Amino acid sequence: MSAQSAKEELEKKLKTYVGIETGPPQVAPEPVNESMILHWCEVMGDRNPAYVDAEAAKRTVHGGIVAPPTMLQAWILTGIEMANPATMRPNKQTELHQLLSDHGYTSVVATNCEQGYTRYLHPGDRVATTTTIESISEEKATALGIGYFINTRDVFRDQRGEEVGWMTFRVLKFKPAQQPQAAPSAGGAPAKPTRMRAPRAFDNAWWWEAIDRGELLIQRCKGCGTLRHPPRPMCGKCQSLEWDSIPSKGEGKVYSFTVLHHPQFPGYEYPLVCAVVELTDGIRMVSNIVDCDPDAVEIGMSVRLSVEAVDESLKLPLFRPVKK
Ligand SMILES: [Zn+2]
Repeated sequence: MSAQSAKEELEKKLKTYVGIETGPPQVAPEPVNESMILHWCEVMGDRNPAYVDAEAAKRTVHGGIVAPPTMLQAWILTGIEMANPATMRPNKQTELHQLLSDHGYTSVVATNCEQGYTRYLHPGDRVATTTTIESISEEKATALGIGYFINTRDVFRDQRGEEVGWMTFRVLKFKPAQQPQAAPSAGGAPAKPTRMRAPRAFDNAWWWEAIDRGELLIQRCKGCGTLRHPPRPMCGKCQSLEWDSIPSKGEGKVYSFTVLHHPQFPGYEYPLVCAVVELTDGIRMVSNIVDCDPDAVEIGMSVRLSVEAVDESLKLPLFRPVKK
C-alpha cells in the first residue's frame, strides 16, 4: 500500500470515531465528600469558607459545604491506575489512540481544556460522566511533529441524571519530530551530547533572547510594578497583562539547594548543584551554582550572576560564589 493510500485508509477509520461515546458512563469512585474537598482546598490554597468551614457554610446560600466547581473532573478520576494505561479498561478513546499509535503517531500531548459548571456539588452527590469524541482534525504539522488533534467532550451528571457541568479536552496525537543526529566532530568521534533545551514560546522567547545576549531580564508588571519570574503573561497580583522588564543586578543569595548525583543525564556534569537563588532585585530563580565545591555550598551564601555558554549554542544564567 502506498503511503498516500495508507493515510486515506487511516483517515477513513478516524472518521468512524467522530460523534461516538467512548463507552458507558464512568461513575465516580467516591461520592462528593468533605475530606476530598478539604484536601483539594489545602493543595490549592483556597480557604473559601463555603468549602472548608461547615459552620460558616451553613450561613451561605448553599446551606452547607459545597465542592469547588473546579473539582469537577477530580470526582471521576480513577486514581493511581491511571499511571499505568495497561491496567485501564479499554474504550473507544483508548482504541482510537492505539489506532494512531499503530500508524506511527505514538506521542500524545494535551493542548486545551475548558470546563463549564451548571450547579454546585454537595457532599453525597454522585457524579458520572459520558465522553464523546467531538471531532478529529485533518493531519496538522506542529512544532512537535505531524499529528491529529482529538477533541472530546465530557458531560457530568448527578445521581438524578441532571447535568452538573461539562469539559472539553483536546490532545494532539503525533509522530515525534526526528531529533537531529549529533554530527560527528572533525576527528570522527561522536559530538558531545548537549543539555536539554528549555522550550521557547510566545511568552518567554524574549527572556531567552536576552540570555543569548548575555543579559538577565526580570519581567515587571506595568500595572502594579510587581516583578515576576519565570516569565508569564499575567500579573498574579493585579491580573494586568501589561508588562515590561528590568535588567537584574545579578546579586543574590542561595535560598535553597540540592546536589544531584543520580540519575546522570548526558550533557550535564555531576555532581550538579541546583539552587533556588534569591536575587536582591526581588525574585527567586532556579539555576546552577558553578565554580564551587558542592560541599561548600550553603544556604545564605552570596552568589553573583554569570551568563555563560554551556555548549556551542546555549547560554544559561549561572551563579558563582562571591569570594570573600
Ligand atoms: Zn500587577
